[in-house]
Amino acid sequence: MKEVYIVTGASRGIGHAVATQLEQQGHTVVRMARSNPNELDNLIECDVTSERAAELLKDVLKTYEGSEAYTLINNAGIVEPIGVMGLVENDVIARAIEVNVTAPIQLANTFIQQLQNVKATKRIMNISSGAGRKTYDGWGVYGTTKAAIDHFSRIVFDEQKKMTQPIDIVAIAPGIIDTDMQTVIRSSSAESFPPLQRFLDYKEEGTLATPEETAERLIAYVQSDRMGTEPTADVRDLS
Ligand code: NAP
Repeated sequence: MKEVYIVTGASRGIGHAVATQLEQQGHTVVRMARSNPNELDNLIECDVTSERAAELLKDVLKTYEGSEAYTLINNAGIVEPIGVMGLVENDVIARAIEVNVTAPIQLANTFIQQLQNVKATKRIMNISSGAGRKTYDGWGVYGTTKAAIDHFSRIVFDEQKKMTQPIDIVAIAPGIIDTDMQTVIRSSSAESFPPLQRFLDYKEEGTLATPEETAERLIAYVQSDRMGTEPTADVRDLS
């Protein structure tokens, strides 16, 4: 099947691993991130919070018109600000919401606008987090952004069930993965992030998943019959 994947935050971490494995499967992959450390030809340097991002997505969908499957993977995300409420700066709160909530919703909206009536397999996978489903002191902002993307996915899931050419959507928690994001978490203080020791232990004890094994599970899910059957999922619950 001729499949097109758009993966945001694909310069490093989970997004890079997902995009690389999809490329290895032979699919057309368009990566989006602010930087291109590996100088990849298929990476568009773009901030997902810029107006350009939705325009670029439209261009990509137009370029690959006639494909059998289109998948948007909203993966770009930031964990900052980390801090119990009262210790966080207001301007960084707004930035987290822009990157983790506004941008994926706008890209999903553009994807739906462009493809709603197109006869093809159409999927949106939003990378969420267990932090949006359980409470962690110090993640008032991050956890809230991920809970927001979960709820957005639930609503679109219901809306799409009523469409004649529905788009599958899921918000999926990827587990706890050894990426730069975990380095940022470990470099916080116990004052701003009370569960810090637990995250130091994950690294020390080697219990973090690798980006590659996480990517395998995310791809297996998005390409499986389970995709489109539930609005939220967690890779740790998959058999
Ligand atoms: P990461 O290693 O920090 O990578 C983040 C990616 O997002 C990078 O490619 C970065 O690229 C991109 N990005 C960040 N801000 C962007 C922006 N404004 N515009 C475009 N791209 C942007 O993080 P990760 O651990 O792979 O996390 C990926 C996703 O998984 C995130 O949504 C995160 O919340 C979620 N997640 C991670 C974990 C974990 O344990 N790692 C756990 C649960 C959920 P540039 O810097 O080049 O722009």
